[in-house]
Parts: sequence; structure tokens; C-alpha cells
Amino acid sequence: MSDNAYEAIIGLEVHTHLMTRSKLFCGCSAGFGAGPNENVCPVCMGMPGVLPVLNRHAVELAIRAGLAAHCEIAPESIFDRKSYFYPDLPKGYQISQYELPLCKGGYIELPAHSEGAEPRRIRLTRIHMEEDAGKNIHESGASLVDFNRSGVPLVEIVSEPDIRSADEAGAYLRELRSILRYIEASDGKMEEGGLRCDVNVSVRKRGAAEFGVKTEIKNLNSFRFVEKAIEHEVARQIDILEAGGRIAQETHLWDPVREVTRPMRSKEFANDYRYFPEPDLPPLRVPPDLVEAIKTAMPELPADQRARFVRELGLTAYEAAVLTQDRDLGAYFETMLAAGLKNHRTAANWVMTEVLRVVNEAARPLADAAPLAIESGELLKLVETGAISLNAAKTAFAAMCKSGKGADATVAELGLAQVSDEGAIAAACDQVIAAEAAKVAEYRGGRDKLFGFFVGQVMKAMGGKGNPKVVNEILKRKLSG
Ligand code: ADP
Ligand code: MG
Ligand code: ZN
Repeated sequence: MSDNAYEAIIGLEVHTHLMTRSKLFCGCSAGFGAGPNENVCPVCMGMPGVLPVLNRHAVELAIRAGLAAHCEIAPESIFDRKSYFYPDLPKGYQISQYELPLCKGGYIELPAHSEGAEPRRIRLTRIHMEEDAGKNIHESGASLVDFNRSGVPLVEIVSEPDIRSADEAGAYLRELRSILRYIEASDGKMEEGGLRCDVNVSVRKRGAAEFGVKTEIKNLNSFRFVEKAIEHEVARQIDILEAGGRIAQETHLWDPVREVTRPMRSKEFANDYRYFPEPDLPPLRVPPDLVEAIKTAMPELPADQRARFVRELGLTAYEAAVLTQDRDLGAYFETMLAAGLKNHRTAANWVMTEVLRVVNEAARPLADAAPLAIESGELLKLVETGAISLNAAKTAFAAMCKSGKGADATVAELGLAQVSDEGAIAAACDQVIAAEAAKVAEYRGGRDKLFGFFVGQVMKAMGGKGNPKVVNEILKRKLSG
């Protein structure tokens, strides 16, 4: 039986750091990159007798995330103690939210990549707040713990089992990260552990009403690992079912080197977290006017920007989707347009090809890798006015990436300006017509196809800098005369 007889059911649990300066329950820095145990105090080290004080900004960012994902914001939610025992959790419990989370319901809408396609909505179960644990480091035969991350604010974003493929899981994560970055709730830096994902996977026969038994793959820290782990796990489960076996409800770890999942623990030995309300924190009350204020101050979301790009600028759904994958990219495009560009799609394609290429090649953020957006805009403006060709713009752009110089200066320095002067072009045409008398006679005798040859000769005579439009006009006139 082919794999097509089965359908994958996937739900994701995403943990992401909130961009606060200090930790969730103490004043220590939540920043990344300090030396081991530099950002610690008795509270985040779990010393006896200390009391947690809730970081208001973290709550506001979590509400912002909830509103951006169309969740209901609970007027009252509760912090709980989730007990488990690892060296990186000094209190022996994590402060989290269990029965009454801050945000409920909601959805993430995946960008449609083709015209008229129905956008897919992945429903959310909840978004709750919690603190991060520290980090165990095993090296040179020793086990060490760094508590800098202990107490850093997180939200956990739990999806309903609405995702149906590895690709769709990737699209969901990209959109979620894009939203979190647009609203400045999280920078979504996976390489710093700022966004991590647990993946729940089951399969069922297509058309079956019930879900199959799921496995959970823990702590994936790259989109590619998520996609690969899902593909591997779906295939593994189908193989077991096809061989007449049963899926065990297990927690797995992804081995990125061998590209397989391996069991970590079965649910029989599942942690018993013994949740109970955190006695040191009062219920979290969110007054309606705070929610309103956060709603009012909400920046434009990627989905809204996408819709605007299609509606107002005439971009395709695909172009709009690519440009809003990253907040900086969308902003770059809009700043380019501010140079007064009329051809929005040329600008969009410029960003999607030229700009994204240098960003990918440099493997550095947009702001470091590409020229200022306003300079890119000026450069394309020169193309629109006919001062330079699109090819010359690409040459100039490559130089600008290295030199950091502006568009006008670069075009002048490299001598890329097109010649639009009619006198100079007419002279070049005359010269070619005189030199190619035989071909001119053939052309005048009806071999229209030769026109391209004459254009080529004129361009060659002008060192490639003739304005093609003007060359065409003058040549046509002279050849027909
Ligand atoms: P658990 O009690 O094992 O933690 P939850 O019901 O809390 O399970 O769900 C955790 C995640 O697993 C959610 O993202 C949910 O959408 C997803 N999920 C639940 N059931 C399934 C299933 N049968 N197949 C795939 N994912 C599932
Ligand atoms: Mg769960
Ligand atoms: Zn602290």
C-alpha cells in the first residue's frame, strides 16, 4: 500500500523567548551571550526564602503575541508549579501556566502562495507564560550548569493537531516567527535557543475519523530539523502499521547527525509534574483597558502587510508572501518604494533576487549585507528614468554591497550611465548603416529579422551604453528612410 493511503496529523508546541531586558521574576539581565552564571541572583538560582516578582513587560509581550494570533486574553490566569528534577532547574519546579493560561484559542493563517488559493488556518489551543530553565553543559568529563537562562521569560504556543505535512509545519513555523518578529515579542533566534519546538506526530488511514497514537519529538531547534524529523517519523509510523504493529506513545529525540528519531521515554514513565498553583504569585489579572491599549499600539502584522501589498501595489500572492517572511525585508521593500518608484513589481523582484542573494551569500542580517534600502530605491529609479539599464543596476548593486557607496556615485564611478542623447545615437546608427550597406539593402528588401542585428551593432559601437529604447526608435526611422 502506498504512503498516500495515510495522512499525517501534526501538532506543534513552540517555546520562544520574549524580548525583555530582565528575567520573568527577577531583575537579572535576560540577555544572551554573557559569561557563565553572570546573570544570576538568589531568585533565579532558586535559593530558599526568595519571592518571585512578575515582569510586567513580559506579560504585555505575551498579550501582544496572543492578540496577534487572534487569541482570547484571559482576564485572570494562574501561575503553577510544574515539578521536575534536573540540575538545570534549581527550584525543582518550573513556574508555568497550566489550567488557566493567559491566552486561549486563536489561529495562525498560512500565506497563500498562489492566486485565489484558500488560506490555511492552523488553530491554536493556547499560549501560556513560563520561565526557562538553565543549561547543562557536558564537557571534558565534567557536567556544568549555566543559570543565565534560568528565569528568562518564555511563551509556549500550542497548536491544535491541524497540520498535515512537514511542509505545512515549516510554513506554520515561518509565519509564527515572522509574526513574533513583526510585533517585537521575540527575535526568534533559533541558533541561540530563543525558539524551540516539540513536534507531535501521528498517522491515520486517509478518511479515518479517529486520530492515531502520537509520538512527541522534543526540543528541535531548526526548521529544517522539524521538517526532517516529521518526514522520518511519519515514514517510521507507516512502516510499523503496515507490518501489523502498533505505535507506542513515546517521547523521542531527534538525532540530527544520523537523521533518525530515537525513543527517550515512554508515556508509562512520563513525568508526573504534580502541578499546583504557585503560592507566591497572585492570580494574573489583565484589565480590559490594558488589552485595548496593547491592541491599539499593535504594529501591522505580516498577513495585513501581505494583503496590502497585493491590493495596493499589485504584487502577486507569492511575491507578497516572500517579502513578509521577514520584517526587515518588508521594510526594505517599502523604503525602496519611497524613492518614488512606479514599477512596484520590479522593486519586489529586486528584493527577492538581488537583495536576498547577497543576504544569503553573506549569511549576515539584511542591514549588514545589503546597501541601504533608500540607495537601492535610487538605483532602480535610475533604471525607471532610463539613465541606466537593469543590467547596469545589477553591476552597480554588487559594487555598492562592497563599497557602501551610494547609487549615483557608483553609477558615475563605474561609467554605467546610458547614452540617451539622440545626436550620439544617430551618429552611431549612421556609422553602422554605412558599414553594412549589403545588409541594409537586404533589410529594405523585406528581411525584417535583420533589425536585431543592427541594434546589436549600434549597441556594440556605443560600448553597450546606448539607451535601447532610443536606439530602436532612431534605427527604425533611419533604416526605413
Ligand atoms: P499531551 O497530553 O500528550 O501533552 P496534548 O493534548 O497536550 O497532549 O497535546 C500536545 C500537542 O499534541 C498539541 O500540539 C496537540 O495538537 C498535539 N496532538 C494531540 N493529539 C495528537 C495526535 N493524535 N496526533 C498528532 N498531534 C496531536
Ligand atoms: Mg501537553
Ligand atoms: Zn535573577
